Formats: sequence, C-alpha cells, structure tokens
Amino acid sequence: MPESDARRRVLGSALGSLLLSVPVRDARADRILAVRVWPARDYTRLTLELDRPLKYRYSLLGDPHRLVIDLENVDVDGGIRDLLAKVKPDDPYIAGVRVGQRRGGIVRIVLDLKQPVEPQLFVLDPVARYSHRLVADLHPTVPTDPLVTLLEQNAGDKPLIVDDPLAAIIQDKNAPGASLARNATPRPAPIRRLVTVAIDAGHGGEDPGAVGRRGTLEKDVVLAISAELRQLIRNEPGMRAFMTREGDYYVSLGDRVRKARRVSADVFVSIHADAFVSPQARGASVYMLSPRGASSTAARWLARRENKADLIGGVQIAERVRDRMAREVLVDMTARSKIDESHRLGRRVLTALDQVAELHKRSVEGAGFSVLKAPDIPSVLVETAFISNPDEERRLMSPHYRRQVAAAIFAGLKDYLRPTLPGQERRA
Ligand SMILES: [Zn+2]
Repeated sequence: MPESDARRRVLGSALGSLLLSVPVRDARADRILAVRVWPARDYTRLTLELDRPLKYRYSLLGDPHRLVIDLENVDVDGGIRDLLAKVKPDDPYIAGVRVGQRRGGIVRIVLDLKQPVEPQLFVLDPVARYSHRLVADLHPTVPTDPLVTLLEQNAGDKPLIVDDPLAAIIQDKNAPGASLARNATPRPAPIRRLVTVAIDAGHGGEDPGAVGRRGTLEKDVVLAISAELRQLIRNEPGMRAFMTREGDYYVSLGDRVRKARRVSADVFVSIHADAFVSPQARGASVYMLSPRGASSTAARWLARRENKADLIGGVQIAERVRDRMAREVLVDMTARSKIDESHRLGRRVLTALDQVAELHKRSVEGAGFSVLKAPDIPSVLVETAFISNPDEERRLMSPHYRRQVAAAIFAGLKDYLRPTLPGQERRA
C-alpha cells in the first residue's frame, strides 16, 4: 500500500483518521494547550484551550451529519491531535473525528455525528486555572426531558402512583396525546405520590470544584457521595431520587434548578466539599439561601465562589444573563415559608451530620447561592468537609467515609420528610 495510506492507518484511531498533509508552519501559529472532551447524554462538550483568543468558524452538514470547525492560525502539531484519542466509541453524539491542515493556516476539525445535533460554540475568557477556551457543545435537537431522566433513573424501582408527574409521560408514550386529554378532565382523587429528592452533585466536567493537596477533585468526591445517597433513597419505600448530573460533565446552576423543578422535587440537596486558604479549616456545614444577605463573611465568600461555577464550568453569556434575570424574578417570589422549610431541612441534616463528622458551624448559614434559588423547593447546600484540609481530604477519599456522610444526609432528609412519607402521616 502507498506509504501515506499506511501512515494514515497508524495515526488514525478506531474512530477516524488523521488527514495528513504537508504542514504549512506559521511561526506565529497558536499551540493548543489542552483538548478535553466531556461526553454525556445531556450533551457532549469539546473544549480547546490555548494562549490567545481563538478565531473560528463552524458549519453543520447533513447526510451524513457532520460538524465542521475551522480554526484560524492554529498549529496542527500541537495538542489538537489528542482529540483523536479523547473521543470514545461510546460518545452519544460523536462517531469519529478528523483533523487536517488546510491552506492559510486553517486547521479543520470534522466531527462525524451519530445523530443530528444543535451545536453551541462559544469562547470563554481566562478564569481560575484556565486560559482562553473554545467550547463546542453538541446538544440533541430535542433536549432530554428531566422527567424522562427521572423515569430512567428509577426504572423498575417502585410502582408509580396516580398523582405522579411520571404517570402522564408513561401514558403519553403508550398513547400519544392521552395526557393532554387527561388533564382536561377532572383528575382522580390524589393519591400520595413518591417523595422526590433532587440530589445535586456540585461542579463537574470543566469545573473541578475545589482541589485537595493530593489532587482529589471536589467534583469526583461529591458525585460519589451523591451516588451513595441515591442508593439509600432507592432502598427507601416512598422515596425516589433524581440526580441533576450523573457523570463528569458540567450542568449550569440554572439548569440544576430547572431540572429539579421539572421533576417536581420535594427537596433539593446540593453536595459539595469546601476549600479554604488555611489547611486547618475543617468540618461539615450546611447552607441555605438567604435573600437578605449573608449570615457571615465566610458564607458570603463561599456563595460567591460556588456561584462562579458557571464561569469555570462554561456557560454561554446569553444563558448566564437569561439565568440571572430568571433568578431575580424567582428570588422576588421566594416565599417566607420556603425559607423556613429550607432552614428546618438544613437543621435536620446538620443534626444528622453531627453524628458522623465534625461540624464547621453548628447552625445553618445563609447566603446568596444561585443553585438554591428554586422558589418552591426547600433547598440546602451541604459542604461535606474541607477538601483543602489534608486529614479531611484523606477521609473524603475513603468509600467508607463517603457512605457515612451519605447516610447522615439521608437520615436528615428522612427526618425532615417523615410527615410526608407514605404510611408515616400519624407520626408527624
Ligand atoms: Zn463546591
């Protein structure tokens, strides 16, 4: 076979081949510093990081579906070749990648797609440890409905009860349009539905959250604790869990709230692991939304840091503005009762955490956390420990400790929810 074919075979991954050509080297061409791919069912994200703001163009082609991205003045011999290895065969959206050098210093990336997508490309300014980034998000043309996700996350777990948001979806799947007709007629007498707990594992994808001295990432630890918590909830009659993120990808703060509201969550628990400049800071703490300002300087500082997640995790500016406007409206609507309920929920979780962990603060602190702004769902944010404290980082790395923390959060939730759980009414 011709030599170029042989080389192509060697360089090409199972997913695609590298288009070889004689590189036209430009001394000023930018090197790609890093390439990251975050595949998820919600959407797959591809991030290119480089020294300078990147000029790009893209087009979407059909038959077969492809996304073509042209990068101006980029060195094809830089990290961009990593892309071939980083796209995995089980990526829900990308079937293969090709990278080639074109005339005029253009590097062309062709993403062969498994299904039509709604692409969103945008650049992000340097923030935290990142330099300039180009982000390409491949969303499905019909966004995944969180109710369907809830259904799948709980498939076969528990029988559905009539007055349940999922019942309409199942009915619709079997007989499209039936749920609309159903809504038009008087509903049957409500039967108590399963209590839904929204578990929000903080950060994810581009946003690692806090990083411990041994390199432990908050996003990984909190996802593990969340998975433990989900299992405990699954085993509990009358309760079911919904996870706002199930893997290592970024979900915007606004989307976390929207998802929880869409599944009519009864409570919302955001799970984090704190960091502080002093490695001595230790202990668990529980936070709630305080619309009237932070309860302490530390709480305000923490809320500001957690709210920066969208900048680091990467959200289009338009979405950030839309979210902020939506949240401002929501905050105005925040009822006193929700604040009281969040406080009560926080107290129960804090009391339960006291059994397994040292507490950083003995009372529920308040500040302006964006992720706690669902107007109608009692919401708390749990900082499970300080990942910046070497002892606590070690503990967070232990599956045993993570189970204990999850069990404590579960005990607090159950205590709070007891009056609403089926069969528990009399004990309220
Ligand atoms: Zn966090």
